[in-house]
Amino acid sequence: MGRTDMRKPLNRSPFGTGTVNRFGRSSLGGGPSPANSNTRILGTGPALQAARVPAATSWQPRVAGRHAASLERHPDGGNLGMNSDRSREHLVNRLREQGIENEAVLAAMRAVPRHLFVDEGLASRAYDDAALPIGHEQTISQPWVVARMISMVAEGRELNKVLEVGAGCGYQAAVLAHVAREVHTIERIHGLYELARGNLAKIRVPGRLRVVFGDGMVGLPGSAPFDAILIAAAGLKIPRTLLEQLAIGGRLIAPEGGVSQRLILIERTGAANWKRQELDAVRFVPLRPGTQY
Ligand code: SAH
Repeated sequence: MGRTDMRKPLNRSPFGTGTVNRFGRSSLGGGPSPANSNTRILGTGPALQAARVPAATSWQPRVAGRHAASLERHPDGGNLGMNSDRSREHLVNRLREQGIENEAVLAAMRAVPRHLFVDEGLASRAYDDAALPIGHEQTISQPWVVARMISMVAEGRELNKVLEVGAGCGYQAAVLAHVAREVHTIERIHGLYELARGNLAKIRVPGRLRVVFGDGMVGLPGSAPFDAILIAAAGLKIPRTLLEQLAIGGRLIAPEGGVSQRLILIERTGAANWKRQELDAVRFVPLRPGTQY
């Protein structure tokens, strides 16, 4: 199926629904718009269209206390969990059709139960290739974006230590923890830091996973250098501090820009040298300084 076939009309957006979620916030709607949602933007001719509209610290235990299989069933009592293996297989097939080739990344996308990272009311859409609201005006990234970003930093190398800026609900961190040995993810909104910790406690991942509450724009100097850094929110400029926390030979991927954004891939080629490459047009939620309660 071609890329253009993968689009959905904008009116299928979940963002305006006002769903009451299980954390008691009144609404997931009214926050991000479909055009501000950690998705890829596909261009057809001159006009760009939205693609599928779509310091507290804790180490997560490597093995969650409860058995992961029992958590495969969604808390709403439905059988989404039983069907989710098949849904993820479809998702992986779609990602392949859209150019994702890294087998380790595809296996990770197949392994992580995305429905456990979204609100119950949106769980049936968890395997659409779309961003979805997670509260606090933020979104879980589109699966293609997650797969693309990880593929680009993982290409041709073993990932030992990785930093993610913008944990959100923890989904991308979980996927990363299937590809890298050690993942540090940092989130500036306290409610989302707690959401990520809670979600990540529900699943098993092979890698070590640490969730940090703080401002990711300053990175984690105590844990640097990183083999890869992924920024899940867009700033006008990629923070210099983060470039300095890359290992030599390490790669950083981040959306950059304001209204118009692109994924930027940067490789540190020497102590004072970085190589920059512009990739896909995307639209991400903003990268913001400081923390928020
Ligand atoms: N990684 C998530 C995407 C979350 S959206 C996923 O798996 O889907 C981007 C997140 O970046 C938001 O939760 C937002 O609060 C966070 N963010 C923005 N600026 C940040 C900063 N300076 N430090 C840490 N997190 C930040």
